Amino acid sequence: MKASQFFISTLKEAPAEAEIISHQLMMRAGLIKRIGSGIYSYMPIGLRSVRKVEQIVREEMNKAGAMELLMPAVQPAELWQESGRWEQYGPELLRLKDRHNRDFVVGPTHEEVITDLIRRDVKSYKQLPVNMYQIQTKFRDEIRPRFGVMRGREFIMKDAYSFDKDVDGMKASYDKMFNAYTAIFKRLGLNFRAVAADNGSIGGDGSHEFHVIAETGEDDIVYNPNSDYAANIEAAEAVALIAERAAPTQTLTKTHTPSKGKCEDVAEFLGVPLDKNVKSIVLAVDIENQEDDSATQIFLVLLRADHTLNEIKVSKLAGLSNYRMATEAEIATAFNTTPGYIGPVATAQKVTIIADKTVANMSDFICGANEVDYHHVGVNWGRDLPEPDLIADVRNVVAGDPAPDGNGTVGICRGIEVGHVFQLGTKYSEAMKATFLGENGKPQPFVMGCYGIGITRILGAAIEQNFDAKGILWPQSIAPFEVVICPVGADKSEVVREEADKLYHSLIQAGVDVIIDDRGERPGVMFADWELIGVPHRLTIGDRGLKEGLVEYQNRRDTEATKVPVLEIHAHVL
Ligand code: ATP
Ligand code: MG
Ligand code: MG
Ligand code: MG
Repeated sequence: MKASQFFISTLKEAPAEAEIISHQLMMRAGLIKRIGSGIYSYMPIGLRSVRKVEQIVREEMNKAGAMELLMPAVQPAELWQESGRWEQYGPELLRLKDRHNRDFVVGPTHEEVITDLIRRDVKSYKQLPVNMYQIQTKFRDEIRPRFGVMRGREFIMKDAYSFDKDVDGMKASYDKMFNAYTAIFKRLGLNFRAVAADNGSIGGDGSHEFHVIAETGEDDIVYNPNSDYAANIEAAEAVALIAERAAPTQTLTKTHTPSKGKCEDVAEFLGVPLDKNVKSIVLAVDIENQEDDSATQIFLVLLRADHTLNEIKVSKLAGLSNYRMATEAEIATAFNTTPGYIGPVATAQKVTIIADKTVANMSDFICGANEVDYHHVGVNWGRDLPEPDLIADVRNVVAGDPAPDGNGTVGICRGIEVGHVFQLGTKYSEAMKATFLGENGKPQPFVMGCYGIGITRILGAAIEQNFDAKGILWPQSIAPFEVVICPVGADKSEVVREEADKLYHSLIQAGVDVIIDDRGERPGVMFADWELIGVPHRLTIGDRGLKEGLVEYQNRRDTEATKVPVLEIHAHVL
């Protein structure tokens, strides 16, 4: 590639909204341009890195037996209604209408589409397992798009979906993906860690996130420096809570509970001091019925010692209400989980409760008991929940806590979630009636897994780990170019022009991804640009060196250049 024919546009200053180094450097190096909040163009130089990440991911996915396909970005709402996520997904889902007033979504993920594809075509266990993936643009209307492409609204994801005939098959597919991810992040040259993640109802080893370790990461990772144990904070807290629950707790019961939905309000009414001894409060929650006021939902809300209302136990509390109560199954469905589930309630933000002619959103529901004047309308648990960051700040697991594997204590570090593997089970296949004929000749739901990698987020994550005062230090595997040739004084020297050109072509011949800076810029400008862009190897060719048959070689991580005989250059950059 010749720089004169390529689009390079670097900036001295990063825009003010760029809070973290990767965002600043990506803007300054001209890799991306902002079009709107969380929406970016990938400029030719940035796209080269995107394509390299994609290629590594593609090769490892193919190696692991997954097949590439491409699904539509715009998806009919019917599929999302079938799975239940049309109601559950909340404002992150971008919904739109076509000219016939039909509903559509711009896909944030593709479980529905792939499940629909598979249920149409895969009829027998003999056709299983199947694993398909795509590399495609997603849209999520993130509440706080930030950090450039790290938390964009539009971003590129690799998403894979496996279909198996049974749970053992699903686990085997999952393990293959887990290993493929490990290979991918190694090839990308990143310092990463696979951490156990909470997968709600399925439990066990059903989900892992892959995190790039970085101070600016949005997630907390709990790890044991003495062992392999690592979990994201939510999973670690779930484990800690189970242990806590084994200890005796005091449960206070009172049915007439007007509440604004905040723990403090509940506690004030009950006259309960919010001290560490109070672990839980039984709270009756009604869902307003537009028609005949006949439906009541009862939840046991666990109030933790840190005063956050971030836990819910899905259970039916008989006898607390005169009205028909939601069944455990209904409550579980509403919370997108299973009866008996104990865990974070963050999903309540996305919940719509459907019970006995009642359709009410979690926002603006009635909270209280079944007596006039003891109701509060306009309650929204979602709004009253602390921001995810705050939940992390009041976490129950802290550095120095005993490690769950009994081997010393845990540390906590920050990570950037770049990949996620998840055992879905039959969640989508059951909801969407996606079945195949099993060996016994009976229809059975597919047992599924899903596997995501944030392709564009990886660019930001890689830079968070690899930069210096001058700019980006790309891992060679994903640098936009591997080598840059900077001819000095080429305008005056025929020899420099010829030798630079010869070197350029010999490197191309050797399969090196090389760019030659023939823009005619001064050395200072050239060097500053390529250091900012972060090309791993630089070759400077000038008259003086050439007289001795030497070229200056500088690795982007070196502080100084070394003189190298022209003939030995290949050994330095390959
Ligand atoms: P996060 O917790 O950061 O919001 P997520 O858990 O919602 O991510 P998944 O649904 O697991 O994301 O999607 C798979 C991968 O897609 C993530 O591991 C991440 O790398 C990437 N990803 C998710 N949201 C974004 C985003 N807004 N911008 C860029 N990449 C994203
Ligand atoms: Mg998310
Ligand atoms: Mg996540
Ligand atoms: Mg995730």
